[in-house]
Amino acid sequence: GTLAKQLNETGAKLEKVFDELHREHVELEKVERIRKDFVINVSHELRTPLASIQGYTETLLEGAIHDDQNNVRFLHIIRQNAERLGRLTGDLLTLSRIEMKSQRFQFASYYVNPLLKDCIESLEPVAAKKRISLHLVPAPDRTEAFCDSEAVHQMMSNLLDNAIKYTPEDGRITVTAECLNDFVRVGVSDTGIGIPHEDLPRLFERFYRVDKARSRELGGTGLGLAIVKHLARSQGGDVGVESVLGQGTTFWFTLPTNDLGLSEQEAL
Ligand code: ADP
Repeated sequence: GTLAKQLNETGAKLEKVFDELHREHVELEKVERIRKDFVINVSHELRTPLASIQGYTETLLEGAIHDDQNNVRFLHIIRQNAERLGRLTGDLLTLSRIEMKSQRFQFASYYVNPLLKDCIESLEPVAAKKRISLHLVPAPDRTEAFCDSEAVHQMMSNLLDNAIKYTPEDGRITVTAECLNDFVRVGVSDTGIGIPHEDLPRLFERFYRVDKARSRELGGTGLGLAIVKHLARSQGGDVGVESVLGQGTTFWFTLPTNDLGLSEQEAL
């Protein structure tokens, strides 16, 4: 009787272990697939501008340098693609630093409103070129966030840069800060082209773009939102997006108001 019972219990336990192992195996396969996809994506993204640089350099050396109709145009293409390579390698380096946790964050308490005002001011000249207005709907005075100010600058710069890129001239961008329990929620809303519903779940993946050609044309690397997500999570916050196609998009991120959220993260 007792032996049968013990065997039964052991059997049940083993089944649980097998279940767990199976789950882990599936999870590892998924991680491996994502990693392989990423390497393929990176190679492809780097190869395209590199091929263009090689091609046009070759053409110039083979005589086009004396072709006054085209030589300057070719040089401009070479420069454009070199800049693209620079942006790509820069973004890849940023991402891998965050992922390897070798990026040192300098956490401190900051007043949210002046911090956001600073970020907005840096992008004002870019917005002005398209006559896009930038607005801040501030959090209550003296609302604090426990964060790395450089990281917040980078997140805001990526989100505002996108909002400007994907909003037609004369549009409007509103940054809203509000308190939610132990978090500050920062939203960046635009009156731009919007994002189809089915693309929203994958938007924060590396190299995921709604319209590859449009993104490239606008100088995008497809890594900006992945960087925003990693930076938010590294600071104990999160990110999200809401959008109505043809009307506009709101990206938001949260930051803890004190260091509680963060020490919990470190304890994990
Ligand atoms: P990219 O360098 O291509 O802009 P991101 O990671 O910053 O890469 O953004 C990924 C994709 O999300 C973009 O290619 C674009 O399709 C979409 N996207 C990002 N921000 C916006 C926005 N404010 N409005 C519409 N689409 C956006």
